Amino acid sequence: MKTAKYTIKEFNEQFPDDNICLEFIFKARYPQGVFCPVCQKVTKYYRRTGRKAYACEFCGNHIFPTAGTIFHKSPTPLRSWFYAMFLMSSTRCGISAKQLERELGVTYKTAWRMFKQIRSLMNESTKPMKGHIEVDETYIGGRHSGSTGRGAEGKTPVVGLAHRDEGQVLTSVVKDVKARTIMPIIWNNVPRGTDNTIHTDEFPTYTYVKKLGYSHGIVQHGKGVYAEGINHVNTVEGFWSLVKRGINGVYHAVSPKYLQTYLNEYGFRYNHRKSATPMFSLMMERMLALAVPKVVRL
Ligand SMILES: [Zn+2]
Repeated sequence: MKTAKYTIKEFNEQFPDDNICLEFIFKARYPQGVFCPVCQKVTKYYRRTGRKAYACEFCGNHIFPTAGTIFHKSPTPLRSWFYAMFLMSSTRCGISAKQLERELGVTYKTAWRMFKQIRSLMNESTKPMKGHIEVDETYIGGRHSGSTGRGAEGKTPVVGLAHRDEGQVLTSVVKDVKARTIMPIIWNNVPRGTDNTIHTDEFPTYTYVKKLGYSHGIVQHGKGVYAEGINHVNTVEGFWSLVKRGINGVYHAVSPKYLQTYLNEYGFRYNHRKSATPMFSLMMERMLALAVPKVVRL
């Protein structure tokens, strides 16, 4: 199945202005209407002109639909936020803060902050991986872009797990690629047992895989072998090349401090690439799911 398309035309039709964006959040957060905490019953809430608020028809109590969301207290128009999310969801390689600055006419700092907030929505937990799991480590960043390999100077080590059958990836920025660092990541995400096969290359760290009770398939990259039947790490390597192309081409450089959030962004898009729901809607769902419910004081 191909990714469900959500075009710029559809976006413009669905979200023509700030009011409609606010209405969208209001309806999504109060699908059954508002139970007014003051009136102690479900009442009608009307939009307050000029404010990002709705007020109770009886008591005038205000609610702010953006409270607890990434949009709250931002002076940037809601539609600009939505548009930034649309842009981020509609590309495979990502878009840079510089591009957003140009598209929205906001400052670079604002664009950068918006992306940082939107990326925070893309930190998804994955379910336990069963079956054939590829594990591989790589190095990202540093000044010498293009040169890869173990122990690369100035680069940040990253470990990736790819669930081959479901095409899901999980990445972790790590301090090193020793067994004591990588094994707990495998252990915490793959249920122990010989039904589950960990596929790796011949890197010595992975000799512990068998000791942990998994089946272990090894592909001998050192001997120039890239697949031996089912033994390969091509899925996870495909993901690495997508990330590296994106980071080198779009972002140019990513500091180690923020690398995980970029990996989450790529992982989110990758994991939902075949989703029947458009990526933009999935991001909106995450935004709503992560919104902190407004504390109701009685
Ligand atoms: Zn009321």
